Formats: sequence, structure tokens, C-alpha cells
Amino acid sequence: MHKRILVVEDEASIRDMVAFALRKADMQPIHAADASAALAAVADTPPDLILLDWMLPGMSGLELARRLRRDERSAEVPIIMLTARGEEADRVNGLDAGVDDYVVKPFSTRELVARIKAVLRRVQSDDGSGSIALGGLRIDGPAHRVYAGDALVDLGPTEYRLLHFFMSHPERVYTRAQVLDHVWGGSVYIEERTVDVHIRRLRKALEPFALDGLVQTVRGTGYRLSDRR
Ligand code: CA
Repeated sequence: MHKRILVVEDEASIRDMVAFALRKADMQPIHAADASAALAAVADTPPDLILLDWMLPGMSGLELARRLRRDERSAEVPIIMLTARGEEADRVNGLDAGVDDYVVKPFSTRELVARIKAVLRRVQSDDGSGSIALGGLRIDGPAHRVYAGDALVDLGPTEYRLLHFFMSHPERVYTRAQVLDHVWGGSVYIEERTVDVHIRRLRKALEPFALDGLVQTVRGTGYRLSDRR
């Protein structure tokens, strides 16, 4: 099955160049020139990945990313942002909006395709049996167990849910509020520092296996799970 990639970009020349590269890589491009076309395309059939230009007419790429994250149909679809701006503040804004990766313009289509494949691989880390493996850790979903190599990791139920959530979305940065939403459910009132408490417990449980470094603090933003330092 060819991966369907929604390309949201108002500049036709870039869209065409990207579409050509995607087809060459056996992926199927879908075009959208602005936010409303993108939302219509997602409503029709959610794509496997969204390439999203930061500077769009009307609704900005960043605002669109937020909208896509809030929408059930696209909440889990990975987003790669195309941006001409390299400023750190913009990056943080984008990460806050749930963007998975960035490609800075001008880019080579080869680099772009490599980044798309990397993000698609990450989101496919669940092999369908409910088992997820990353960086030496393995979650056996049906059994609700976590292994570090062959050793069983002793986790409380909240730490398990927290780890499961992060392992299902590796490399993506989440704010404390987003973690609360996803792991505790949005309707419950809990203070954001509760997240810190459970992150500490999770790291402590992973420490004997020297895997606590997988749970990373992103200063000023929140947390992510990554096997890259
Ligand atoms: Ca643009």
C-alpha cells in the first residue's frame, strides 16, 4: 500500500517538486493549497502523514497543526512542518502544537523523503500485536508488562500508562497539559506537577536498567521519549 502524504503548500512549484519526489519514492501525494483544502482532505480520508508549510494564506500552518491535533480523525497523523524560519521560539511553538519534525526551506527532496520515512517508521513502532519496542524497552500490551531486555520492569499503573503513551508517540514533545489530557483524561482536574511526580517515578523504575535517559525533559516545553541523546 502506498503511503498517502497530504502536502499543504500554497506555492505550486514546491508542491510539484515534492509531489514528484514522493511518487518516485512510491508514495502518493495529495495536494492542498491552504488550510481549508487540507481540512477537507483530512475529513475525506485521513492521510498517513501531513507535510505542512508554516506560511500559508489565511490560517497559518501552526494554527492548522493545532486544529489537526484537536480533531479526532487527524490527532494521530504525524505532521512534518516545512519552514523557512529557524528561530527556536517558532520550533517550540510547533512542538507545542504537536508537530513531529521540521524541514527547513530550502531543502533537498532527498532529505525530505528520508525524514518522511523516518517519521513513518516511528509511528509504526506498534507491530499490531500491541507490543511496542524502543531503545531496549518492550511493552507487552495485552499482558500489561514492560521488559528491559529480558528483565521485567516493575511499574505502577499510572507509570505504565505514561510509558505506554510515550512509547506510542516516540520523539514527539508533549507539554504537561497534553500529557494530562492523554494519560489522565481531559475531564479530571489534576495539577500539572503531578506529571512531574510520575515522570520521576517512571525514571526511577527504569534506572536499574540504565534506561531512565529515554524519558527526556525538554526545557521550557515538557517531555519526550527518545533513544537519541
Ligand atoms: Ca507558503
